[in-house]
Order: sequence, then structure tokens, then C-alpha cells
Amino acid sequence: MISNSRAAYHLHDHRRCVGAALAEARHRCAAARARLTPIREAVLRLIWESHRPVGAYQILRELPRHLGRSVQPPTVYRAIDFLVELGLVHRIATLNAYLGCPFPGREHSELFLICNQCGATAEVGDEALNAALAETVRKAGFRHHSQRIEITGLCPACAEQS
Ligand SMILES: [Zn+2]
Ligand SMILES: [Zn+2]
Ligand SMILES: [Zn+2]
Repeated sequence: MISNSRAAYHLHDHRRCVGAALAEARHRCAAARARLTPIREAVLRLIWESHRPVGAYQILRELPRHLGRSVQPPTVYRAIDFLVELGLVHRIATLNAYLGCPFPGREHSELFLICNQCGATAEVGDEALNAALAETVRKAGFRHHSQRIEITGLCPACAEQS
């Protein structure tokens, strides 16, 4: 059961998000017989610093602070690609940036609610929506490989201020 993840828009203990993301990453890596190298882990931690998508340029700039040394850009890009491929991180096309996935390893619809004002982005899941989407795609005779919906607007806090 995929629960709605609205944490992005509310005060919460974010260390729990980071802890869960790292535990899931270790689990997914073990299942894929891959290694969560220090660089991969540092990139994941950096992306999970907040619920705001992080651009590749920002990752390049801030990674040395997390890793304690500098890394060549191609190595960083490969680490990002690895995390995306494993489903631990999503690329948000609208922002050309990366966001940690709260439900890695589970089939989900990748529905993103992106705040235009503060950038906070929530990934929400809904089984009824997943089923409806799959059915709509099936009816069209289309065989989909991925599905991703990016909705832009205002998060609750920004909507209140405006
Ligand atoms: Zn959090
Ligand atoms: Zn996801
Ligand atoms: Zn906002």
C-alpha cells in the first residue's frame, strides 16, 4: 500500500526520512548486487537534505562538503545515474533536478506536486490512480515503460501566504 507522502509540506523529523532513504538504498543495492560506494551515498544524502529537488550543478558544487574531497564531474554524473536507475532518486524534468523517492522498489505512478514558489516537491502515491492510469494506457494499446506526472502549483504554506 502506497501512502500519500505529504511530509514535504509539513514540519517533521527529517532525520527519519534520511534514515529510511539510506536503509532502503542499502537494501536495494544488496538486491542488485551493487555497492553503495561513499560517492553514491554522499550524493544520496545530499539529494535527501531537503524535500526540494537538487540540480546536477548544485550536487557538483556541494558534494565535496559531504565527501570531504573533490570528485570529477563524470564520476558524480555516474553516481546520479546509478541512483536514478535503482529507483532511489527521480529526475524531475520540469526543474531538471533530482529528488529522493520515498517509495523505492515499489511500483508507483511517480506523481509529483511541485511548488513554484519554494520548490518543495511532494511525491504522492495513490493505488486507485495507478490502476486508472494503467487501464487508460492499456486501452490505448500502448506499452509503457515508465509514467511520470509533474504538477506545478503552490504548496499549502505558499498558498496561505499568497
Ligand atoms: Zn523529510
Ligand atoms: Zn518515487
Ligand atoms: Zn511552497
